Amino acid sequence: MTTGGWGGRRVAALRAAVLAHYGTTCHLCGMPGADSPDHVIPRAHGGTDDLANLRPAHRRCNSARRDMPLEQWRAAHPLPSRAPPSRRW
Ligand SMILES: [Zn+2]
Repeated sequence: MTTGGWGGRRVAALRAAVLAHYGTTCHLCGMPGADSPDHVIPRAHGGTDDLANLRPAHRRCNSARRDMPLEQWRAAHPLPSRAPPSRRW
């Protein structure tokens, strides 16, 4: 068995799969340019490395969220698409 860790080659392969499958919109902040796989259910909470449990996210959003449950993150960081449209520029 390997160490079962989360890092290195394994992350690179998952990142490529996640970005190919879901695109590059960060599921945490709703902005483009996501560059890392984030767990919907954190591994610390029993989440798997399955594609179904992964979404693209910015590395900084990913590390800001850590093991926070997604609902809790959403409550603190509503997606921009929820805001009323305003194009004053
Ligand atoms: Zn983000």
